Amino acid sequence: MTAAYEYETHDYDVVVVGAGGAGLRATLGMAEQGLRTACVTKVFPTRSHTVAAQGGIAASLSNMGPDNWQWHMYDTVKGSDWLGDTDAMEYLAREAPKAVYELEHYGVPFSRTEEGKIYQRPFGGHTTEFGEGPAVQRTCAAADRTGHAILHTLYGQSLKNNAEFYIEYFAIDLLMSEDGQCQGVLCWKLDDGTFHVFNAKMTVLATGGYGRAYFSATSAHTCTGDGGGMVARAGLALQDMEFVQFHPTGIYGSGCLITEGARGEGGFLTNSEGERFMERYAPQYKDLAPRDYVSRSMTMEIREGRGVGEEGDHIHLNLSHLPAEALAERLPGISESARIFAGVDVTKEPIPVLPTVHYNMGGIPTNYWGEVLNPTAEDPNAIVPGLMAAGEAGCASVHGANRLGSNSLIDLVVFGRAASIKAGQVVDKDAAVPQAPVSEIEKAFDRFDARRNAKGTVPTAELRLEMQKTMQADAAVFRTAKTMAEGVEKMTAIAGKMDDLSVSDRSLVWNSDLMETLELDNLMPNALATIVGAESRKESRGAHAHEDYSTRDDENWRVHTISRVDGDKVDLSFRPVVLDPLTTEDEGGISLKKIAPKARTF
Ligand SMILES: Cc1cc2nc3c(=O)[nH]c(=O)nc-3n(C[C@H](O)[C@H](O)[C@H](O)COP(=O)(O)OP(=O)(O)OC[C@H]3O[C@@H](n4cnc5c(N)ncnc54)[C@H](O)[C@@H]3O)c2cc1C
Repeated sequence: MTAAYEYETHDYDVVVVGAGGAGLRATLGMAEQGLRTACVTKVFPTRSHTVAAQGGIAASLSNMGPDNWQWHMYDTVKGSDWLGDTDAMEYLAREAPKAVYELEHYGVPFSRTEEGKIYQRPFGGHTTEFGEGPAVQRTCAAADRTGHAILHTLYGQSLKNNAEFYIEYFAIDLLMSEDGQCQGVLCWKLDDGTFHVFNAKMTVLATGGYGRAYFSATSAHTCTGDGGGMVARAGLALQDMEFVQFHPTGIYGSGCLITEGARGEGGFLTNSEGERFMERYAPQYKDLAPRDYVSRSMTMEIREGRGVGEEGDHIHLNLSHLPAEALAERLPGISESARIFAGVDVTKEPIPVLPTVHYNMGGIPTNYWGEVLNPTAEDPNAIVPGLMAAGEAGCASVHGANRLGSNSLIDLVVFGRAASIKAGQVVDKDAAVPQAPVSEIEKAFDRFDARRNAKGTVPTAELRLEMQKTMQADAAVFRTAKTMAEGVEKMTAIAGKMDDLSVSDRSLVWNSDLMETLELDNLMPNALATIVGAESRKESRGAHAHEDYSTRDDENWRVHTISRVDGDKVDLSFRPVVLDPLTTEDEGGISLKKIAPKARTF
């Protein structure tokens, strides 16, 4: 039976779902070209998770010493553990300086050097001389509030360019035509309970990550993988979901982030013996090795009995040797977080930290123009007309198996911008806006109505907790065949309980019970694809550390996993990694020899 709900319709050239860094950069780029653009967001734009980004944004500006895009590209390739798509990684590194100068001109208040240039700090895995030279200062920063500065600037610029914002509108589902084209999205306005169909020639998903599939995460409670959920329900693919980044320095207990910039500014980790143990694991780059490396090293120290604290279950991050003025100028935000969440004065004591879920390398597969892919055996790079994805929701894939710090903020603006450039080429401003099929709208309402009236036995919060604990235990920093097989079994059972949910509030106005249920409906396919992808991947690569297969296997596993999730079932296939860069060495590109796979040490 079809549920009867009334709705209003809105016609646009482009609808962008999400107002984080990626959504706002895409919105701004679309609006600047005169495309009629709506930006729909479930939270106020400047409350998107990007606002919490601290450390900075990577671009080879060479303001602090020699640097170039080829070195940045090499570091990204190696950081990805050779799983990223080479064309996209070249595009990222090449376009990064342009995208940062654009931000500067839009008005982002970057920190400055003595001569007035944009200040840059060192970050993990960013090096010189193709990994042979010392660490490079590549990460542009506005103190330790870089995301905050970027988000406020992009929002102001989008308004100036007449983009239209629909704030506190929750996107429920994509509306697809019969021949597989995306024609818009159905939304629920949270504050008055009305419904809105956005018809559009192009829909952009910039909905952020799904960190909240885990129990302890640095990401906001709103990071529930809604874009991935919508894509899965539309029968489309998710890519490389097994790669989940644990940030080495979440505050012990709260999970609140201490930026890698803290180590960039000279902070270091110690164990219970007061030893700077990273010197043993990564002799060259020590505390500035990439995140997967440092998180594993910390976990080994704890396992071998050298953790700190009463239970020996965490590690110390030391900053007190740094001048108090430097801490106040460069790291004011984390000094405050340490005081509030750990009761620590960073000028005097170390911060207790633990690897904490931080970033999703996997997501909705796209090419480097942000166009969503629907990979088939015949055409692994086939695109879905009318649909784009950018930011953490997407997977271009530039981060492959492990993202370098400060490479996400640059991914947001480079690919948000690329999506708008492409849309400028493919969207015909003069054409009529296609109207989404009524049957699709009804299908979306039916699911909504079923969740709204769910009369089962399991409260949403209880099932969510069960999922979060399972993911935390079975898809962790280190994984074994046994834990992952158990994880698949448990997660399948948990997903199966979605039909036994109980929702107690049936109203349509500010119904957080229902909204959290829809968010759980989105988290579930993301979580399932993560554990199933992890269980299938019989090697160790980047963030996927498989204890029964401890080395990387390029012959069999240098491939993207593609998952299609339907209820509690995941259909897994593979997509080849793009190996060719955009330009050859003769054209000024990078040498293929330089980026050929080799052992990844630091
Ligand atoms: C604490 C923290 C610090 C970080 N620091 C850095 C750093 O220093 N450097 C770096 O490079 N990276 C950093 N990262 C990573 C980076 O900040 C994120 O990957 C990035 O901000 C994600 O941006 P986004 O635009 O993709 O999504 P988000 O900023 O998460 O925004 C998602 C948007 O989608 C909207 N949305 C979602 N679902 C729906 C729906 N159903 N309907 C309507 N709207 C919806 C939300 O309202 C929001 O506007 C950090 C991450 C965290 C958590």
